[in-house]
Amino acid sequence: MSSELQKAFCYEPGVKHPVLKEISIPEPKENQVLLKIRAAGLCLSDVHVVESGLLSYDYPFAMGHEISGEIYKSGSLVDSVTYPIGGKFAVYGVKNCSHCEFCQDGRQNLCNNNGSQWYGLGVGGGYEHYVIVENPVHLIAIPEGVSFEQAAVASDAVLTPYHAVSTVSLNPSKRVLLIGLGGLGSCALQIVKSYNPYIVCVDRKEDLKSIADEFGADEFYTDLTKSDVPKKSFDAVFDFVAIQSTYEVSQQYVKNGGIIKPVGLGQEKITFNLSDLGCRDVKIIGSFWGTPKEQTEAMILVQRGIVKPVITSYKFEDFPKAYELLSTGKSKGRLVLSM
Ligand SMILES: [Zn+2]
Ligand SMILES: [Zn+2]
Repeated sequence: MSSELQKAFCYEPGVKHPVLKEISIPEPKENQVLLKIRAAGLCLSDVHVVESGLLSYDYPFAMGHEISGEIYKSGSLVDSVTYPIGGKFAVYGVKNCSHCEFCQDGRQNLCNNNGSQWYGLGVGGGYEHYVIVENPVHLIAIPEGVSFEQAAVASDAVLTPYHAVSTVSLNPSKRVLLIGLGGLGSCALQIVKSYNPYIVCVDRKEDLKSIADEFGADEFYTDLTKSDVPKKSFDAVFDFVAIQSTYEVSQQYVKNGGIIKPVGLGQEKITFNLSDLGCRDVKIIGSFWGTPKEQTEAMILVQRGIVKPVITSYKFEDFPKAYELLSTGKSKGRLVLSM
């Protein structure tokens, strides 16, 4: 097994897209699981990472952090009742130690000891056929009725907005501004909608009005600053683009005392008007991915039809085509490799 090779789309420094390579299929060590990948979602953050070109990891490794599949082989210490061969699981994307204060508290997304490694970033990810799961606690069981594609997408595109939204108090009297209706934003809209606030969506892509309409947004604009929507009128702003220009819109339109959550890691540094922020008691709150418990809840949202991720499937070998669509802003919803 250890001498067998697999095709993988890998990070390569200085190259502006993941590169097809042949790498070995690893043998699982004592407490590891080898997962046969059945679906892997493509995330825009991969494009940001590749284009920044600033990573100091050991190469090569396959990218892709939305992963689901079946257990193919396990190390000798893995509990085969909880983690049976053929069992269907999604991967929890944040490689975590399971014993630091944050992991002990169920907030593995904040693990102190993850060495800045996530599945698909520093260690093998989803754009390959077999991936080593470093610890079986990084596996989340897929509920009945949830497909591999949905489970993959739920591990980031549903989980990340679920984590961001569920920590804000929303109800029908609140007004929410949602910026960006891509892979995460289109799921965020459905999650926000489940609390029934008044929802205004913004995306510079006119054709995403169909997503806004389908999932119950009250208003949609390509440019909020050219609309009649009053400034300082939203209790919460979720910004899934998170670049300087969308941040500025967020601060102009958030109410006094309101909350801004920049969720996409669109830009490393953003500047803000401190005197306006301070005088109006506006809160900017960071939000990173989600917890394993929330990942199960995200899949239950999908299972119950409360969130219907917009998914387009591609064959593994068509990865370059899908990546091109994603990186040039021509994709709609989530693009997923089906294997
Ligand atoms: Zn992502
Ligand atoms: Zn930890």
